[in-house]
Amino acid sequence: MKENLKIENIYCVGRNFEKHAKELGNKVPQTPLIFQKSTSTLNTKNKIEIPKNKTIEHELEIVILIGKDGSPKTHKEATTFISGFSTGLDLTDRKLQEELKKKGLPWFPAKSFKGSAVLDTNFITFECPKEFFLTINQKTRQVGNLKDMIFSFESILLHISKTVNLKKGDLIFTGTPDGVGPLVKGDQIEMGFKDHPSKKLIVI
Ligand code: ZN
Repeated sequence: MKENLKIENIYCVGRNFEKHAKELGNKVPQTPLIFQKSTSTLNTKNKIEIPKNKTIEHELEIVILIGKDGSPKTHKEATTFISGFSTGLDLTDRKLQEELKKKGLPWFPAKSFKGSAVLDTNFITFECPKEFFLTINQKTRQVGNLKDMIFSFESILLHISKTVNLKKGDLIFTGTPDGVGPLVKGDQIEMGFKDHPSKKLIVI
């Protein structure tokens, strides 16, 4: 799958885990909160480059890959649109995001900057494993479990499909569990699903 991966849109879900919504002082949403990153922000390398004079936080997320074009109408149909599951980091300039939130402005520059959509391109094509993790310098920093997601993958797809058609090659970052925090130069990162091959990255 890796060689033929052509990414179209990158959608992200905000506040999909209750504990994470609360750690940033946000309420739990009633409908999925969707935002986007530019496709050019995709980072499939083994390095994360922190922009100069910025503090960038990690958000570990399950990323789903869309396998066909269209707009599903039911949960059952939505399942057939998912062609793979992987993990990624929704890198965030938190300070800027907080400033933008206060002003009621879009989060775009805080979420969509060079290299901010970190992805492990080794997608799992059968059932999504339940537990996913992020370690930094061998210490566990984030652990997520599917059962703690407020909105299921299918609900997210149905919600996005109300406004736009899904496209083969779309990526959806499905929300982060609690434990977000800053990355520091030299950090050694490992992320993935429990009991599956993981991806290692270095912060430069
Ligand atoms: Zn996120």
